[in-house]
Amino acid sequence: MQTIIPTERLDQGRKVADTCVHFGFCTSVCPTYVLDHEENDSPRGRIALIKDMLARGGKPTAATVMHVDRCLSCLSCVTTCAASVDYRTLVDTAREYIEQSGVRPFHERVKRKALSYVMTHPRLLGVAIRASRVTGGVGARLPGILGTLARLSGARAIGAFAVRGQDLAAPAGSRKTGKVALLDGCVQSVMGGEINAAARRLLGRMGIEVVDNGLAGRCCGALDLHLGHRDTAQRHAAKLVDAWHALLEKGEIEAVLVTTSGCGSVIRHYRELFQDDPLRRERAARVEAACVDITQFLNTRVQELQFARLSARVAYHDSCSLKHGQKITREPREVLEHAGFVVADIAENHLCCGSAGTYNILQPEIAERLGQRKAGNIEATRPDVIAAGNMGCLVQISMYTDIPVAHTVQLLDWAAGGPPPRGMETFTPPAHTPACTESPPPRDAASAAPETSDLLW
Ligand code: SF4
Ligand code: SF4
Repeated sequence: MQTIIPTERLDQGRKVADTCVHFGFCTSVCPTYVLDHEENDSPRGRIALIKDMLARGGKPTAATVMHVDRCLSCLSCVTTCAASVDYRTLVDTAREYIEQSGVRPFHERVKRKALSYVMTHPRLLGVAIRASRVTGGVGARLPGILGTLARLSGARAIGAFAVRGQDLAAPAGSRKTGKVALLDGCVQSVMGGEINAAARRLLGRMGIEVVDNGLAGRCCGALDLHLGHRDTAQRHAAKLVDAWHALLEKGEIEAVLVTTSGCGSVIRHYRELFQDDPLRRERAARVEAACVDITQFLNTRVQELQFARLSARVAYHDSCSLKHGQKITREPREVLEHAGFVVADIAENHLCCGSAGTYNILQPEIAERLGQRKAGNIEATRPDVIAAGNMGCLVQISMYTDIPVAHTVQLLDWAAGGPPPRGMETFTPPAHTPACTESPPPRDAASAAPETSDLLW
């Protein structure tokens, strides 16, 4: 068996695997180990399997493929590992090795390629979701990936986030205080228009212009990277790196803002994707430095916004890509509290909700158990609404609870004069929170848009 992975990267993978000292601090924080206590579904077990695969060469065993496939790439193990094992690099290399080994049956390879192609092409994804919805309950009863897709496309959160294209405009403001690029994402541009619209309204109120660089709906490469399609991920990433780098060089933007933490986590490690391309690697370093999660950005300039104290109780879910992938936990909570929300922490907040990119499509049984566990922990906090910084998490969680879900920027936008997130239209402050004493800021022009229910496509 021959792979086209350069020897240096295979050696790098072997070296990373060697740094594991097998104490197993990571096992208790690994979602798949927590569920079944299976050693091979722990970080330590997977590292041993990957180490063996890279050392032996040749085709991976069926067990190695299964246990690597079951990894969510949540990086909870990385947060906990005292030996600083670079599991992110290791599992990405392992996934690429498995894909290139040809060990998967033909239909599996086609399924995985088709999945990433559809999800990273907004028009196609729009058609797929619409088709899934038309089939309704029939589609959801189909076996395998088709049924899973149909069930997911009916998730309450997708309807709650969809918005018509014309509502994406930011409110017109006279003062200009800065310029940024905003990643609207491939999947989010189809399913999460309201999130992008809320972010633009917030920035517009602060006088920050979003520079449209003609990259609407472009994929950052995260989905393909996690499926082991590194070359496709590089192609997606190269387009964004080149465009953002040019804007940064010309001084036309000061930052690249991201509202989807799954994308942010990959963009902030773009250099690793371009190890064999020194020019792009240099450009990627500049982009990495300029890439900021929107809650970090807003938290530094929060004084520029006026908020009504809505006092809604928010269960804040730490998406793994924000908590473990980018180590951002303080800023989303601080900015929500500053805006007048009461933030409740969720038990087991280090555990993944089961979304994990395409994981809830490819591993639906484990994803369902994790989704139910997460929803149970959330409901125990008795929140009015659930917030997170990653749309995929909210879609997944909304499958297992009736509590409204909203992206953090939607709550901030609501408190700053925007429309309430779906499900919060009739909200009144509950008895357990301080009474609302301030009048809300006036509704701005973009917020006055009629209720939206049509999807973007
Ligand atoms: S990954 Fe880290 S925490 Fe887990 S067994 Fe290896 S050294 Fe220990
Ligand atoms: S990335 Fe997450 S699921 Fe994978 S081994 Fe680490 S903790 Fe477990």
